[in-house]
Amino acid sequence: MAQNNRSRIARFILRQGSASKPEIAFALKLSMPTVLQCVKDLMDAGILEEAGECESTGGRKAKALSVVPDIRYGAGIDITANHVSFVLIDLVGNVLHHRRNRLAYEHSPAYYRSVRDHLDSFLREIQADQSKLLGTGISLPGIIDRSANLLVRSHILNVENISLQVLSQYFDQEPFYENDASAAAMAELRHDSRNAVYLSLSNTVGGAIYFGQALYPGDHFRSAEFGHMVLVPGGQACYCGKKGCVDAYCSAKVLARRGGGSLEGFFEKLEARDPEAMAVWDQYVDRLAVTVSNLRMSFDCDIILGGYVGGFLKPYLGELGQRVLEYNRFDRDSSYIQVCRYAREASAVGAALTFAEQYLDTV
Ligand SMILES: [Zn+2]
Repeated sequence: MAQNNRSRIARFILRQGSASKPEIAFALKLSMPTVLQCVKDLMDAGILEEAGECESTGGRKAKALSVVPDIRYGAGIDITANHVSFVLIDLVGNVLHHRRNRLAYEHSPAYYRSVRDHLDSFLREIQADQSKLLGTGISLPGIIDRSANLLVRSHILNVENISLQVLSQYFDQEPFYENDASAAAMAELRHDSRNAVYLSLSNTVGGAIYFGQALYPGDHFRSAEFGHMVLVPGGQACYCGKKGCVDAYCSAKVLARRGGGSLEGFFEKLEARDPEAMAVWDQYVDRLAVTVSNLRMSFDCDIILGGYVGGFLKPYLGELGQRVLEYNRFDRDSSYIQVCRYAREASAVGAALTFAEQYLDTV
């Protein structure tokens, strides 16, 4: 019971950023003596620290408590078709270090060994304190069935029914596996009490549904495959084999291919009001607006735009919001459309975060 209370308190403070003892007692419905004892235990263990004073409307100011971020670390790996990204995060989810290597995926022992070797060299290079490392999370662009320990299917990696054991055997400790969009959504939303839909606009389009402070997986781990909702019947070919999918119109590739192969290149052209870039953008925003509007009609909650494109969207939210409102007359404004906090590393961060969550269960 005491451990349960300590975990609840540590999680609450992590979610809030900081909190005072009276705030903790009130929010978690715990007695002050229980809070005092648990906080003392957590401070003795080096998990909590005092972080200034709370705002007060009068009387003695209460001390604010916060979680010591670097007491433990998590490593995250994001595997894509042509790259592997690595992050080291602290307990709060701050990215302390990151690295991206070009490494084309292939289902072979040499590839999996290479991923492990790259992780080792990354951790050596940043001189990570291995004794503080909780574990490694791995994000994969495909459908994962954790109960069967299986990568069920990945169009992007062009594989089916791969046992995750073939990758796990290269790690001393069993990694945690997560779908790339689900991992990114966890990175963005883990401390949120609101419901939200995460739309990932990377080289493929995916997403996640965050409901009741957890991801909704679906009956077959295929929820939120927003990229394969049909937007234009008989339209452009999608890599999944169908025509007219959201992916064919809203993936990062649609813009990057008009920016000399990079999104940065595209948005530079758009800023310079290049006519071709503006025409491409006009169609992109329109397709994205229909998609966002449909998601809003389906889920009636905040929509977070993430993935590679999400990192560039902030200056264009007003324009997108206007278009969405034209398709959706149920809302007076578009403040429910928001952009992601993490630009590129979200999937690796989300995969690594699981270990932070598990660690708090043990405090
Ligand atoms: Zn498709």
